[in-house]
This record gives sequence, structure tokens and C-alpha cells, in this order.
Amino acid sequence: MPKKSALSELKRRLRGSVKTDADSLYWKSFDTLRLAFPIEAVIEPKNDKEIGIVLKLANEFKVPITTRGSGTSLTGSAAPVNGGWVLDLSGWNKIRIDRESAMAYVETGAILEKIKQKAEKVGLYYPPDPSSKKYCTIGGTIACNAGGLAGAKYGVTRDYVFGLEGFLPTGEPVRWAGDVRKYVSGYNMKDLWIGSEGTLGIITRAVIRLIPKPPCKWTLLTAYKNDSSALAAVKALMKARIVPSILEFLDAETVLCAERRRGKPIFPGVSESTVLLLELDGRKESLEEDRAFVLEWAKERALKYSETYDAEESEELWQVRRQSSPAMYELGNTKLNEDIVVPLRSQAALMRYLKKLKKDSGLAIPTFGHAADGNFHVNIMFNRGDKNQERAAKKAVNSLMKTVVELGGAITGEHGIGLAKSQFLSMQHNKAEIAAMKAIKQVLDPNNILNPGKIFEPYEVWNKEREKAVLPWDHK
Ligand SMILES: Cc1cc2nc3c(=O)[nH]c(=O)nc-3n(C[C@H](O)[C@H](O)[C@H](O)COP(=O)(O)OP(=O)(O)OC[C@H]3O[C@@H](n4cnc5c(N)ncnc54)[C@H](O)[C@@H]3O)c2cc1C
Repeated sequence: MPKKSALSELKRRLRGSVKTDADSLYWKSFDTLRLAFPIEAVIEPKNDKEIGIVLKLANEFKVPITTRGSGTSLTGSAAPVNGGWVLDLSGWNKIRIDRESAMAYVETGAILEKIKQKAEKVGLYYPPDPSSKKYCTIGGTIACNAGGLAGAKYGVTRDYVFGLEGFLPTGEPVRWAGDVRKYVSGYNMKDLWIGSEGTLGIITRAVIRLIPKPPCKWTLLTAYKNDSSALAAVKALMKARIVPSILEFLDAETVLCAERRRGKPIFPGVSESTVLLLELDGRKESLEEDRAFVLEWAKERALKYSETYDAEESEELWQVRRQSSPAMYELGNTKLNEDIVVPLRSQAALMRYLKKLKKDSGLAIPTFGHAADGNFHVNIMFNRGDKNQERAAKKAVNSLMKTVVELGGAITGEHGIGLAKSQFLSMQHNKAEIAAMKAIKQVLDPNNILNPGKIFEPYEVWNKEREKAVLPWDHK
């Protein structure tokens, strides 16, 4: 009797849920890292039972499975590096808001922005705020423990997940905690899944925490003489126990990019400045008190500032931040956006190091980030195709990762390890730590079928051909 093939068995058991046409395979073969890998099938499961069948078959035939939301991962965590089948859960997108308990019951493929909008309609708020919110799914953000701009005040995705439902890699359905506010029964498996980049389980549904929507916002844009005076101002603000909802730092090189794109300086008469964009939110009365303090702080330390309560004017101020990222492509055709974190005490040392790195590498390295939580996006710009610049960029990333660890920080604060950072894992963790993580993976996924090749296996992303396709979130 001929041996059963995994794919034919999959198609037989999941009628109508398996795609194998070239177009479907192509679009699910890469994520935002743009490294593509050939796959055999895209599965759009109709129900839980089908997910269970997929996993049982994958274990029986040792087929790699990569779960996928929208594919906005910047590190290749959704790239099916070992081929196999892609489990596309983007169609699982129901959202139900429970006003009384201030919780949302969501399916994994629900788009983050839609959850936020539905919550806001009834006066509630879901704070995690990655810049990809219009496109990414809640499941993807849970799997990556995504952060965003408001992390210092509101925390990250992990702080908003009450319960998860889904499947173990071996195909058994599980539920970790639920729609209760307190839960300490057994090991905290929910938190083990959060941030595990789809390697320890498949999330199908989540119960997430909502908070009252802050009724009022105040925005302030300030310019400083240089990076170190801006960071000194940040330190002073933190010391005063002011907790802004947003505190974005744009270094002088980033500001220059934004100004070139605007065709005019941000503040007339001030050039080559470093910028802080700050937002306070809350009830008007309590906000007013903080605002008065912050204005004094700005008058004392900034060269210029501009403030507003008005939503439209605030958007004007925000343009500086929004323009800065796409504007960087004037400095090179390729950007390595490294989402590193350093302790607040090391922020100034990081900036000093980056100044030297720019000089040594000869590359432009505009940096911006969330100054209140030390999470900076260090953008190493180079021209792909220029061998000298490619070598310099590769060396610069290595040096950056090493330095960040020496400064007591983390090689990633929000994007995760995926493929792009797997080669640096051993800089961050010692052998015992890596062995402990691998042991967990081995127990939960004995056949290593769920998102294999990620986190632990160093992957060389350099000089690999990237997909040229334009993705919806490009240059946003
Ligand atoms: C323009 C842009 C801006 C960004 N800005 C930020 C930012 O400010 N902050 C930030 O933190 N991140 C940011 N990101 C990256 C961010 O990690 C992703 O946007 C998001 O978390 C992934 O969601 P996704 O639905 O696209 O997941 P995918 O990319 O499809 O998958 C990401 C990972 O999650 C796993 N996964 C997906 N769904 C499931 C599931 N149901 N069960 C188990 N595993 C699953 C995948 O296997 C993969 O490992 C940005 C990305 C882009 C492109």
C-alpha cells in the first residue's frame, strides 16, 4: 500500500480549508523581514476541531507549522523558515466588548485598531499601541508581547491579557486562566505563551483587560540643544514622578531627517536640535496640575516648545514623529530598526556610544524611542549592494547588541527574537538560561513542529535576497 502523504491527508480531512495555489503560497511565505521560504500549504481553519486535526497530522508526519496573523513581524518570527504549512488565523476576527466587566472577548485574528475603536465607542480603552496597530492582529501582539509608545505609563500587551484559549503543539485544546481578575491556579502558562513567538502553542481566543478611556490629552513638543541635554531633561522629569503617557525622544539626526522632509525647521530659528514629544492624559483637573509642572520644566530646559489640548493641533505636533521614520530612507536604502532597551541610568551612555559607533562605522544611525522606558529604536542605515556599507552595518549591529547587554539592557524590547536576532541570543542569556527555555520547548513540543528554527537556532539574515513586494504598512 502506498504511504499516505501528509498533504493529501490534510486536504482530505479539511475540505475547503487548505490552499495550495501559487499566489496564496507566495503571500504567506514571508513577513515584514522579507525573507521568503517555500511552503506546501496555507490552512484557513473553519473551527477548533480543524486546528486539532492539523496539529495531530503535523506531529504524525513531522510537518513544520507556522501560525500567522497579519505577518507584520519585523524579525521574521512569522516567516516559515523550515517550510511546511502556514496556519492563517487572520479570518478569526470576532470582537465582543463587555462594558460591565471592562473586558473584551476576542478571536486571535481581530485587528488591534478595530478592538481599540470598539472599546472607545463605549468609553473604554485598550492601551497597547504598536505603530502597526492598523494591521496587526491581537494574536500576533500577544505572541510577541508587543509594546508601543505608551509603555511607560500603561505597560505592554502582557499587562492586559486575562485569559487565553488555544492548542498545545501536540494538538490538545487548553485554556489558561479566563475572564476572572484573579487567577493563581497552577503554573502561569498564560504568561509563558505571551511573547513566545508562536513556538509554544496556538492562541485561538483571548480575554483582554480594558480600562476607562482617558477623557483628556495634552501634547507638548520641545526642542533641546543636543541629545544629552534632552536626556538630562528626561531624567529630571522622571525624578519629579511625572508619568507621561508618551515621551518620545528624537535624536538630532532623526530631527534633521524630519526637517528635510518637511522642507522647514520644526521650530523657526532652531536648527539641529533634539526633540522630545510628550503627552499627558487623564482627567482635566489632575492633568492641569502635571501640565503646570511640565511647562515650568520645559521653560527651564528647552530651547523652544509648543503645547496644545486641541486634537488637530496635536496631530500637527505629531507629524514630526510620524515623518521621521520614512524620512530616514534618504540616508540609505536599507534600515535595520533595532528595538533595544537600556536602563534609564544608561541612556546617556547609550547615546555617547552611538555617537562613536556612527564615527567608527561611517554610517548614519538616527535614533528615536520611548525615553520613559528606555526602549530606543536605533536605525542603522546603509545601502544594500554597497559591500563596504553592508560589512559596516553588520559589524555595527553586532557591536550594538554587545554594548546594550553590557549596559544592563535587552537586545529587544518589543519586536522579539524571531530569525533576525537569534544570532545574538547567547549575548543576552547564559547557557543555563537558554537550556531552561529549550527544555520547556522540548516538553511542550516534542517533535519541534511549532514555528521551528526561531529564537534558538542562530540564523544568518545577511545578504539573503529580500522580497520586493510592497506591503500595506510600508513607509507608514
Ligand atoms: C510598521 C510596523 C510598526 C511596528 N511597530 C511596532 C511597535 O511600535 N511596537 C511593537 O511592539 N511592535 C511593532 N511592530 C511589530 C509587531 O511585533 C507586530 O506588528 C505584531 O506584534 C505582530 O502581529 P501580526 O498579527 O502581524 O503577527 P505575525 O507577524 O503574523 O506573527 C508574529 C508572531 O506571532 C505568532 N502568532 C501570530 N498569531 C498567533 C496565534 N494566534 N497563536 C500563536 N502564535 C501566533 C507568529 O507565529 C509569529 O511568531 C511593528 C511592525 C510594523 C510592520
